[in-house]
Amino acid sequence: MEPTRPNLVRRLPPSWLLGKLMQWALDHLPASLFRPFVMSFMTASMGPEASLLRAGAVLVNREGQRFVDELVQPGLAIAQQPGGHAWLVFDSRVATMFSGPPHYVSTAPGVAFAYVPDYQRHRPDLYHRADSLEALAGRVGLPGDALRATIESRNAALPEGVAGGVLQAPFHALGPLESRIVITDGGLAVTERHQVLGADGGVIPRLYAAGAVGQGGALLAGNGHHIGWAVTSGRRAGRFAAQEPRRL
Ligand SMILES: Cc1cc2nc3c(=O)[nH]c(=O)nc-3n(C[C@H](O)[C@H](O)[C@H](O)COP(=O)(O)OP(=O)(O)OC[C@H]3O[C@@H](n4cnc5c(N)ncnc54)[C@H](O)[C@@H]3O)c2cc1C
Repeated sequence: MEPTRPNLVRRLPPSWLLGKLMQWALDHLPASLFRPFVMSFMTASMGPEASLLRAGAVLVNREGQRFVDELVQPGLAIAQQPGGHAWLVFDSRVATMFSGPPHYVSTAPGVAFAYVPDYQRHRPDLYHRADSLEALAGRVGLPGDALRATIESRNAALPEGVAGGVLQAPFHALGPLESRIVITDGGLAVTERHQVLGADGGVIPRLYAAGAVGQGGALLAGNGHHIGWAVTSGRRAGRFAAQEPRRL
């Protein structure tokens, strides 16, 4: 979930001058100075990795019940839970494992990695820890009996010899989590001059699309390609629009 109070970076107005200042700072100031800002983004805008689920974290809903096989993509199932909320519950084995490289909770690849202690520090509203499952449930606001029953039956169902389970205190929870569609790749159909096409395939006069809205059906894989496209297509679409004869 988003922090209730947007952080400083999110409150800054989108301004050319500020952008230049940030660029200069990134080029000249030590990277450690940016870690708090980067972490507040990493722990607010990036989702937890599926590897956390594969390592044994369990997803429960507001009733303290498991509702999905954690190893399939759980996004839609989370959206269908009461309030659209879910919590990740894990034990100290998983928490220790995800407290340092190579096991991160979330990442913007090539930019930064966030670990359990980063969530503890930057998202006290989402991160909870307690010595027993009942105490953890109390902190999170879930029914304690139901959570204990869920975890016990999950532990009992694990095949013998398979690592996992939620066994070792202290116990940890991250949540509430929400399922979000953060990107709608594809956008409108456009010509090579970024003019929007109508349902009949013809150009809609004087209408241009750039960036995420004007991807012309392309699904962009790879880091930075979306931003690259937004900047490039925006400049091109603006130039073509400016070349249009004035309408009298
Ligand atoms: C969590 C996340 C991580 C991402 N990571 C990467 C990455 O690492 N690398 C990468 O290349 N891309 C990444 N992307 C994708 C990239 O951010 C987008 O593709 C890009 O920002 C699209 O730029 P845009 O200018 O087309 O649209 P946007 O950045 O969405 O800008 C549209 C603007 O229009 C404003 N707006 C909307 N409606 C109105 C209105 N009616 N009136 C006035 N203003 C309005 C919005 O508030 C917004 O500011 C990420 C996206 C998300 C959500």
